[in-house]
Amino acid sequence: MAKKMIIDSTLQTKALRIDKQLCQAYGAPFRYFGSKDALSQMVSSILSHRTKNATTKKAYTKLKETFPTWEAVRDAPVNEIQQCITLSTYSEVKAQRIKDALRIISDANFGRLSLDFLKEMSVSDARAWVEKIPGVGVKTSAAILNFSNLRMPALVVDTHHHRVAQRLGIIPPKCSLDKGAALLEAYLPSDWDSQRVYDSHQAYMRHGQKACHHYHPDCKNCIISDQCDFFNNNH
Ligand code: SF4
Repeated sequence: MAKKMIIDSTLQTKALRIDKQLCQAYGAPFRYFGSKDALSQMVSSILSHRTKNATTKKAYTKLKETFPTWEAVRDAPVNEIQQCITLSTYSEVKAQRIKDALRIISDANFGRLSLDFLKEMSVSDARAWVEKIPGVGVKTSAAILNFSNLRMPALVVDTHHHRVAQRLGIIPPKCSLDKGAALLEAYLPSDWDSQRVYDSHQAYMRHGQKACHHYHPDCKNCIISDQCDFFNNNH
């Protein structure tokens, strides 16, 4: 994410115009759903991969109830971590990833377990730092910075957001989730704060959940159909 991207200004204008419409339609500004510290957000985000929110919450709560500190998780046998998060998909893999990530952070911080130092970095540097940790990809790094109490302006792009953006034609139809996320983040004005970036994520995501479904998008009632490539090519 550190490299400056070349962006299409017409698509950027379209993305920002639709962002404004969706923010208005869905009632931005949106309340942040949480304010975990960055380290806790990282663990929660790793648990959330391919797992429903309610299940992630249960697995996270069980982990916190079992181990009093993240240091205790770092030092615990992998099978004990796995037993706590067994509800989450790929719990064996995630248990090892969480333990390894805590160890890497701890080693980089002279034994201290915290990601609060990211706040002193630029968004791109902070993302690059956490993305070096195995299991922390583009979406997780953005979640660590934006959803946590660091409140940094990193854009989270989930599958709903990505699907809506592809159908609208503001990112290429076959681009990967990571490439799409990089483009969508590059469209955002550099002076947007974390709340405004969070609103953009929420507005596009809500549109994907409420109208632009994976199967059978509700195009007839869609408020942005006039600007949608998918709609215009199919009607
Ligand atoms: S017109 Fe249809 S495909 Fe396009 S954004 Fe709206 S719901 Fe999605």
